Amino acid sequence: MEHQLKIYNSLSREKELFVPLNPPHVGMYSCGPTVYNEVHLGNLRTFTTFDVVFRYLTHLGYKVRYVRNITDAGHLTNDAGEGVDRIEESAKLEQLEPMEVVQKYTNSFHEVCSTFNLLPPSIEPTATGHIVEQIEMVKQILKNGYAYESHGSVYFDVRKYMEKYKYGELSGRNVDDLLEGTRDLDGQEEKKNQADFAIWKSVAPNHLQRWVSPWGEGIPGWHLECSAMGTKYLGKQFDIHGGGMDLKFPHHECEIAQSVGADGIEPVRYWMHANMLTVNGDKMSKSKGNSFLPRELFEGTHPLLDKGYAPMAVRFFMLQAHYRSTLDFTNEALQAAEKGFARLMNAYKVLHELSYVNDTAKRSDAEIADVKKLCKEVYEKMDDDFNTAEAIAVLFDMAKKINSYKEGVISISTIDEETFNTLKTTFTAFIKDILGIDKEEKQDDNVTEGLMELILELRKDVRAKKDFAASDKIRDLLLKVGIQVKDGKEGTTWTKN
Ligand code: AMP
Ligand code: ZN
Repeated sequence: MEHQLKIYNSLSREKELFVPLNPPHVGMYSCGPTVYNEVHLGNLRTFTTFDVVFRYLTHLGYKVRYVRNITDAGHLTNDAGEGVDRIEESAKLEQLEPMEVVQKYTNSFHEVCSTFNLLPPSIEPTATGHIVEQIEMVKQILKNGYAYESHGSVYFDVRKYMEKYKYGELSGRNVDDLLEGTRDLDGQEEKKNQADFAIWKSVAPNHLQRWVSPWGEGIPGWHLECSAMGTKYLGKQFDIHGGGMDLKFPHHECEIAQSVGADGIEPVRYWMHANMLTVNGDKMSKSKGNSFLPRELFEGTHPLLDKGYAPMAVRFFMLQAHYRSTLDFTNEALQAAEKGFARLMNAYKVLHELSYVNDTAKRSDAEIADVKKLCKEVYEKMDDDFNTAEAIAVLFDMAKKINSYKEGVISISTIDEETFNTLKTTFTAFIKDILGIDKEEKQDDNVTEGLMELILELRKDVRAKKDFAASDKIRDLLLKVGIQVKDGKEGTTWTKN
């Protein structure tokens, strides 16, 4: 099948045909988490978006190098490179080494990714592991005249840059306003312009995280780390860069300026931005106090939740919206998604239990055309800027077909074997490889406990009747599923192997 994959490019604000720089290779970067606390569900929506992009491109046969960084230094509370250092703040609050904070939340991020069936990226570079590359990039920008040193920090000179290049194109910001107040540094002010941003930031001697640089001890600028790591692993220009919509400005705007300032070339061919997860219309964010941790969602322990939801149902819920639409989080929407998810997964199970029966007398060209159309359509939806919402709608139509074949409402022999196989491979590829919603859920321990109590009670009954053959059979069958039963003086106990 020929694919005409189109991607909405935030820079041109148009859907463009995807033509990689070096096919079959695709270079893709997405901004990773700042590991100073646990990721919330909003963050996860963005990571899931790019997981599906990675999965789909891979499915289409591209050799994707997917780089998703870990921000473990340099991210200050104010995105312009000012304010409190987030990792430093957590370290002080939790009385941990900064790198302990980093490790703790990196581990927790990885756990969440695995629970939500996110594939690991090809490379997961850290800012602290690339200080040398960042210093080199700062030097290059300074050498090209697009930055200046001030009080041990280095700032990107937006006005100078705008003499030659455009700034603000990605986000549509009018930077002229910001540039109004240009001034010479008077010793008080560090920046020439409000729009300038730190690419190297000097820190006080008691700052926990700090590195030696030609400008004194400091930390790299947050925006700079993505530019340095993207360039290092994907080249001066690469195919796709992703992140949440809220990163367009200043983060991604600054990334463009830095790369152009250092290498004179636009770094990214297709900019992709995921829209926000909202709660009752408000962006989910830690500072607003409306964020759910994934754990709270499974356990149903957040006050805004009626009950707990399984990770795959939540992943499905997110994919039921197109990544460029906002997605509002409500109990009702989640419960509807839970039902839809169960329906789809049931059809998936049914499909794998169905056996094809060949009966040419029953063949129907119309039915064959119908199924083939669905199998084509589902790809067309994905090719249309990764429209998972519409692809899922087609999967539901396919599920209807599958159920009709199972129940005999439509004979499976109306389609030929090849069409049946296409249906099977397409449906399976979407559930497993592209949407990634087939992860086995962890056994619910409460259910296991309850079932074991019931089984052992029944076994007690048969033993009371001296039916030891039945009692041993139960014991042996349990052993086969990994449960060991022990009969002791105190009664019967069991353990999981
Ligand atoms: P951070 O760790 O704050 O740098 O955020 C990690 C990623 O999550 C970034 O790509 C953000 O754009 C994204 N993000 C933050 N809040 C939300 C939200 N409510 N919905 C979707 N994505 C978000
Ligand atoms: Zn970034």
